[in-house]
Formats: sequence, C-alpha cells, structure tokens
Amino acid sequence: MTESIEKPTGTSNGSDRHISGVEIDLRDVVKKYPGQKTAAVESLSLTVPAGEVVMFIGPSGCGKTTSLKMINRLIEPTSGTITIGGEDVRGRDADELRRTIGYVIQGGSLFPHLTVADNIAVVPKLLKWSKQRTADRVEELLDLVGLEPGRYRDRYPRELSGGQQQRVGVARGLAADPPVVLMDEPFGAVDPITRQRLQDEMLGIQRELGKTIVCVTHDIDEAIKLGDRILILSEGAHVEQYDTPENVLAAPANDFVADFVGAGSTLKQLSLSRVDELQMLPWTTARVGDDAAEAVRRAEAAGHDCVVVLDARNRPIAWPWLRNLRRGGAIDIARRDELITLDQRATLNDALDTMLSSSHAGAIVTDARDNYVGVVDFESVTTHIRSQEASAKEAQQARADGTAS
Ligand code: ADP
Repeated sequence: MTESIEKPTGTSNGSDRHISGVEIDLRDVVKKYPGQKTAAVESLSLTVPAGEVVMFIGPSGCGKTTSLKMINRLIEPTSGTITIGGEDVRGRDADELRRTIGYVIQGGSLFPHLTVADNIAVVPKLLKWSKQRTADRVEELLDLVGLEPGRYRDRYPRELSGGQQQRVGVARGLAADPPVVLMDEPFGAVDPITRQRLQDEMLGIQRELGKTIVCVTHDIDEAIKLGDRILILSEGAHVEQYDTPENVLAAPANDFVADFVGAGSTLKQLSLSRVDELQMLPWTTARVGDDAAEAVRRAEAAGHDCVVVLDARNRPIAWPWLRNLRRGGAIDIARRDELITLDQRATLNDALDTMLSSSHAGAIVTDARDNYVGVVDFESVTTHIRSQEASAKEAQQARADGTAS
C-alpha cells in the first residue's frame, strides 16, 4: 500500500481507489414500532454509493440505529424498499443475508467463552469454510487490525483491553469479506487516544478494501474524520443534510445542521486536515546500540533537546531527553508501550490532542506500518492552518475578481 497525501475522503470516486463494496439504496423506508404514535423512521430515502463510508449522525432517538438495522433486517421495515447491490433485501433469507453483511457494534460484543480466533471465525464456520481457509483468514484479519496472531489468537475476550476487543470486533465484521459493513458506535467504548488509533486503522483498512460502510456515531468529529459523506438526521429519521464533510462544514443546509455541527466549525476544519499534510521536522534519531555520546553531539548541533530512538525495524521506541543520554555508552532502551505516537492518517484535531498529552509539546509521526516518519509540533499545525487560510482567501479574492470583471 502506498501512502498518498490525498485525503481518502470526499469525491474519491473516479480515482483509482479499489472498491469491493456495492451500493445500498433505501426508498421511502418507514418503521413504526408497535404501540408507537409517531414512526421512528418516517420516510427515509437514501443512496449510499459503492465503496463509500457514510456516517449517520443526529440527536439521540432520531432513528439512526433503527435505520441501520433495517439494512441487515435485524429490524423489519413497516414499508418501503431496501436494496443492496440492486437486490431487494426482502427477497433473501434474513439469516443468509446477515452472513453477507459485516456488523460491528460498540465494545465488539465478543462471545466471552470463545477464543479470539473462534470469535472471528463465527461467520466463516456458518458458511462451512474449511479449517485451513478459516485459520488463514483469522491470521490475515488479526494482522490487518494490528494484533499479532501468535500472541492473541488463543486468548479469551476477558484477557484483552477494550481497544483490543474492539479490534477483534472489527476483524469479525470483516471475516467473510462482506461488501457491506454496518457499524453502530463502534469506537464509543474506548478512551480518546485508543479511539483515535482505531479510527486511523479503520481508514487504512478502508483505503485497502473499499467496502461500503454505514456507521452510526454521536461524535461530529468522528463523522467528519471517517465519512465520505455525512447523513444528518432529526427526529423521525428526517434528512436534514446529506453531503461531504467539507460541504456540511462550509455550507450547513439549515439552522438545525448549523447548531448540530456547532459554533466551532473553524476548529472542526482541523478534523478535515491530516497529519500527512504537515511539514515534518527532521529530528535527530538514533538506533538502539548506537553510541549515546555521539547521538547527544548530533542533537546539540541540530538544536534538539531530545532524540528519537528507533529499533532495527525503524519503529520509534523512545524519545529520551539528552540529560538521560549523557551517561554515555551504547543506547540501551527496551520498547516502551507507553510511547504515544501519531499516525500519519490522524487529523490535526487528533494531533493537538496527542501533543497536549505529551511532555515534549510535539509528537512522533509514524506510517501505517509503525515506521518513523518525522516529528510535528504545535507550530507545524499553526503554520499549516495559516497557509490554508491564506490560500482560501486568495481563492475567494480570485472569485471576487472574476465576477467583477
Ligand atoms: P437513535 O439510534 O437515533 O438513538 P433509535 O433508532 O434507537 O434512535 O430509536 C428511534 C425511536 O424509536 C426512539 O424514539 C426509540 O425510543 C424508539 N424505539 C427504538 N427501538 C424500539 C423498540 N424496539 N420498540 C419501540 N420503540 C423503539
């Protein structure tokens, strides 16, 4: 996979991005629960293009989850038509349909009595895949979601952190390689830094696989970050706006959307820009085993007060201050789990979060394979924002000049 500077969102159709997803279409879909006075979903019509991520967002009780669950028939619509890849979902056996649609919910909802491997293999087993094919697929998926197969395959859910359980949940949703994946607040139950990582991984996976993904969220920043399009709903699953994150921020369709997106929409622009758009600061690096005194000399010459230490595979493992290296000898540091790095695919919003929690007022940036890319600091972010503002002004001026002449 090659990293590109291009955002994976927005008008990505027409690019050479690989698409394995299919279109989902909802026409005049209504859901009235028994005994309910007004319908939970009044009349929803919507096309989710193949290979895109659509984020459903809106106030609690507006009908997001009901709408999502009608797509895989966990809830049956009262009326209306839903097609997936042009095929009416009612024409299919509901159980068989659900095996062809990935489903990921908050916390992963793993079976506690099954190992990680068996949890992931639930659908392949129902589909009667051979033992070998299933085992190979489990390995592949654990790799994909960043869990080392040898270490995690045979563990039970209780032996995993919340973030790891959620990763297994994502792997399970992808197990049978479904063209469509439905997600309901998938990252709602984990801490902010883990959530950021999981989101970045989901973007990486999506860039590789090109599924059609419908995802319910209550977090507007998450919707902006992950969505090719955002569907903003009000009560009764009434569509207030359905558009790209850029357009929702730049031109909210009405007061409801403007209120929902929030007054800080300039700040929300930070969720539209990615770390890989920033100018990286070339930092002094050293490898485990290098001479500490020599590394200190290089850092001092470059005006740096700390050194990024990389392992043999070029992964950052520590970021010690020079005073901790002055003892001399060979640099001898074990991999530190608590070193927080910033994924290239993260948003500038995430970058600020990460930097605020770091004692270095900066962050080490890594690529999708955890390899070292560079360092960014607050100034990298402000410089980038200023240059964006300047080019937006220029574009505005050019448009004004154009209309004047
Ligand atoms: P959201 O996901 O946006 O929070 P839901 O789709 O869960 O909203 O719910 C939409 C409306 O339908 C709410 O008013 C909710 O109380 C109602 N509702 C949801 N599930 C049921 C159910 N099983 N029976 C009756 N009413 C329900």
